Amino acid sequence: MKLEKSIELYNKGQHNLVGAVNSPVRAFKSVGGVPVFIDHAKGSKVFDVDGNEYIDLVLSYGPMILGHRHNKVEKSIKKALKKGYTFGASTNKEIKLAKIVCDAFPGMDKVRFVNSGTEAVLSAIRLARAYTGHNKIIKFSGCYHGHTDALLVAAGSGLATLSLPGSKGVPDEAVKNTLIAEFNNLESVRQHINAHDDIAAVILEPIAGNMGVVQPTKEFLHQLRKITQDTGILLILDEVMTGFRSKFGGAQELLGIEADITCLGKVIGGGFPVGAYGARNEIMSMVAPLGGMYQAGTLSGNPIAMACGIATLKELKRQNPYKKFNKNAIKIKKMLISSAKKYGVPVQVNHFGSMINPFFTDKDVTDFKSAQTCDTESFKVFFWQMMEHGVFLPPSQFEAWFLSSALRKRDLRKIEEAIDSSMAKVAEKKIIKQNHQNDD
Ligand SMILES: *Cc1c(COP(=O)(O)O)cnc(C)c1O
Repeated sequence: MKLEKSIELYNKGQHNLVGAVNSPVRAFKSVGGVPVFIDHAKGSKVFDVDGNEYIDLVLSYGPMILGHRHNKVEKSIKKALKKGYTFGASTNKEIKLAKIVCDAFPGMDKVRFVNSGTEAVLSAIRLARAYTGHNKIIKFSGCYHGHTDALLVAAGSGLATLSLPGSKGVPDEAVKNTLIAEFNNLESVRQHINAHDDIAAVILEPIAGNMGVVQPTKEFLHQLRKITQDTGILLILDEVMTGFRSKFGGAQELLGIEADITCLGKVIGGGFPVGAYGARNEIMSMVAPLGGMYQAGTLSGNPIAMACGIATLKELKRQNPYKKFNKNAIKIKKMLISSAKKYGVPVQVNHFGSMINPFFTDKDVTDFKSAQTCDTESFKVFFWQMMEHGVFLPPSQFEAWFLSSALRKRDLRKIEEAIDSSMAKVAEKKIIKQNHQNDD
């Protein structure tokens, strides 16, 4: 695999960028080697600077749900560009996107746009505290809610990939109101609720996607909703990853629960920086200028990002690709499982809608602890083989693969061949390693 130009850029990038990247997972640390630099993308594919072509299952970690540079989306962006980039005043586009988003979530009367998922979540936390007058937050280990101080503990993929327990530079005071519970473990939530009377909110990824894809049990979700309702604690569902991914709207609707506050990002910007938090009127009226909770942003709701978001969601609604997503995810799951079986590699596959994850372990993955039983060395081998065979995967065992509606039958065939060859290589390397160990 030719990566000369990527290597050259990687070295050059080290001078003025931190590790030549602007987000740590992009540095390929856990899979070794040099990260590929992308030149351009179209439809289901990305092309790197050395001319290698890949079927893209990263999709910028989720936003590019229609694939890259969909004609209608590109047209809308170009049209918006001609009118100016940002005004520090409202535009009709913000109202349009707000309507599309609120209509798609039953529990959302109003929404506030921000510039990232991180910002959506940190604002939602502030709002929950403002509304309840309480300070403590319960989060689940393995769930990621952006890099805001208060939630950067037990925070899933990015940190797990780098084997970090948390982040340096986060003062104890910043996390002293953060309580950690275990995913799919209601008792761990109850204990906190019994021990503290000043809990503002429980925050949860309704489908965990940042320790790999992990589904909640029905019982866990419904009891969590009940317990929070009964105790006046707000339930914040972080749908930055899951929003508009498994249905037009939230995973919460599919799962049969309703959030008090919902956080969004990724897909709603279609590739531009957009985040959002929304709730019913009673809660959102706390937010300035209607209420006393302050939150602002120079570029929030900027017209280019709004144009991209509107066009993406409109096209998504028109295509309604969700059945296809599910079918394709099941196809890929079958490919993974049958080739793992064929070569004797222990693999579990979790998926939900268009999110899918193979875990290199023989244990069911139901929480962060079981996710960590994975053999990351096997993933490393698998990852680079997939790249060699033209499939771009997130460079981490703990990141979900995403499917776009641009994925074609021939792409699936290529993915199948890539999986088969890559799994064979994983098995081969495992045997070599075992033989070495036997020699010792
Ligand atoms: C990606 C993600 C975030 C953070 O969003 P950014 O736009 O990267 O700040 C927050 N929560 C979840 C569930 C995410 O997947």
